[in-house]
Amino acid sequence: MTSLRRQDNYFDGGWVAADTTSTYTVVNPATGDPVTVIPETSEAQVDQAVRAAAEAWRTWRRTNPFKRAGLLHLIGDRVAAAVDAIATEITVEMGKPLNEARGEVRKLAQAFHFYAEETTRTFGSVVPNAEDGFTSIVQREPVGVVAAITPWNYPVELVGWKLAAALGAGCTIVVKPSEYSPSSAVEVFRCLDEVGLPPGVANLVLGAGTPGRALASHELVNKIAFTGSAATGAAITRSSSGVVPMSMELGGSCPLIVTAHADLDAAVTGTVRRSFRNAGQICIAINRAYVHEDLYPAYLDRLRERIAALVVGDGMKQPDADMGPVTNLEILERCDRHVDDARQQGARVVTGGGRLEKLAPGYFFEPTVLADTKQDMLVMHEETFGPLLGVTPFRDLADAIGAANSTPAGLAAYVYSNDLAETFRLGRELDFGNVAVNNVDAGIMNAPYGGRKGSGYGYEHGRAGLDGYLQLKHLRIRHG
Ligand code: ADP
Repeated sequence: MTSLRRQDNYFDGGWVAADTTSTYTVVNPATGDPVTVIPETSEAQVDQAVRAAAEAWRTWRRTNPFKRAGLLHLIGDRVAAAVDAIATEITVEMGKPLNEARGEVRKLAQAFHFYAEETTRTFGSVVPNAEDGFTSIVQREPVGVVAAITPWNYPVELVGWKLAAALGAGCTIVVKPSEYSPSSAVEVFRCLDEVGLPPGVANLVLGAGTPGRALASHELVNKIAFTGSAATGAAITRSSSGVVPMSMELGGSCPLIVTAHADLDAAVTGTVRRSFRNAGQICIAINRAYVHEDLYPAYLDRLRERIAALVVGDGMKQPDADMGPVTNLEILERCDRHVDDARQQGARVVTGGGRLEKLAPGYFFEPTVLADTKQDMLVMHEETFGPLLGVTPFRDLADAIGAANSTPAGLAAYVYSNDLAETFRLGRELDFGNVAVNNVDAGIMNAPYGGRKGSGYGYEHGRAGLDGYLQLKHLRIRHG
């Protein structure tokens, strides 16, 4: 039997073996095989990493932004050159098909280039004074040491967006990636290591609860950037030391409204892509669809046909598969629970409905559509984070809007309608941070991406993504 590889932490400019015997074993969700061992990094070592970041910040904050931008461009180039190595780690550890993983890495490379450019545009302003002889300058300064804690569903993008924006802003950072997907983050840090960032500017600590808790509650951390579950977000909020600004992206149960004036084919195409891509493990996945009663039967029929053509498999053996396994047992069990709950309360299974036993022991669940769902069924208000969609008909658009807004979720909503007035109404009344009309790509690099209500606060992407790592200073000079 070959021994499992072990990953090390990276801090203060080098790879550091963990000082603990406590470990976590990562399992390939497509096969059930153990693949990687990571340390459950100790509090003492997290402390060393944060102190390295705090020390490095003294210089990095004053490093010329054009120099920082140059380094970010170099990282982007390295990431692009390492697409296959990074993507393989993604697929082996969290299960998305290899070609989809490659796409994620390419987009990450673009994020580094995007923030390289934004870095050189951290403009301030000059504010008029009521009194003569004074000049008020408002300038932007980095917030300091960032703790980034990330999940596994987009294991490199969710690490990389935070890295690129924080480093560009002049912050230093300690990253704690998910215990389900550590090795792709390790590969990204190899790219950072190769471009010669000053020691301590970017640091990586591996493990699950222990390093996450130690990092989030460290007194030298000046900002927490978190993406993950609402429960962990709440735990981090409670445990953080003192007054620490945070950004929280906590996912959500995202609705789709298909009105009587929708292009049905486009709506079905959008649904398949946004409900089953990444096996539904997307914060902005469509979890629940409200479809006008005139289109309802045809929508379900076409959805069933389209889903029948999806290829589900091990994304290393079938790089072009549409769907891989879900990443862990917890999700598989939640899919079972949501299907059972809906069935017991009278929902109809249109397609799927269970585990793909022929691919066991991999964690495969059938792409599943449940029809005639009611709002109080779990699938309609609790994020499944798996390949599950609940569908319900509506007659009056106001009812669909009311149902869409009725949960704590506020991250993304989708609309299909070719009626202009209707699309404006929905765009105004849907209480979500991102609303996509006649498309399902709510997140683009140049626009802010963030939630509201129970889905969190703060933004990634775009100018706002950089602003989250900057603070304002009013400098008032008397010179008259
Ligand atoms: P998901 O279910 O999407 O993985 P989690 O919220 O469970 O979301 O995990 C997101 C990240 O938060 C992971 O890196 C995880 O290890 C980390 N984490 C879990 N518990 C805590 C905690 N109490 N404090 C800080 N980080 C934590």
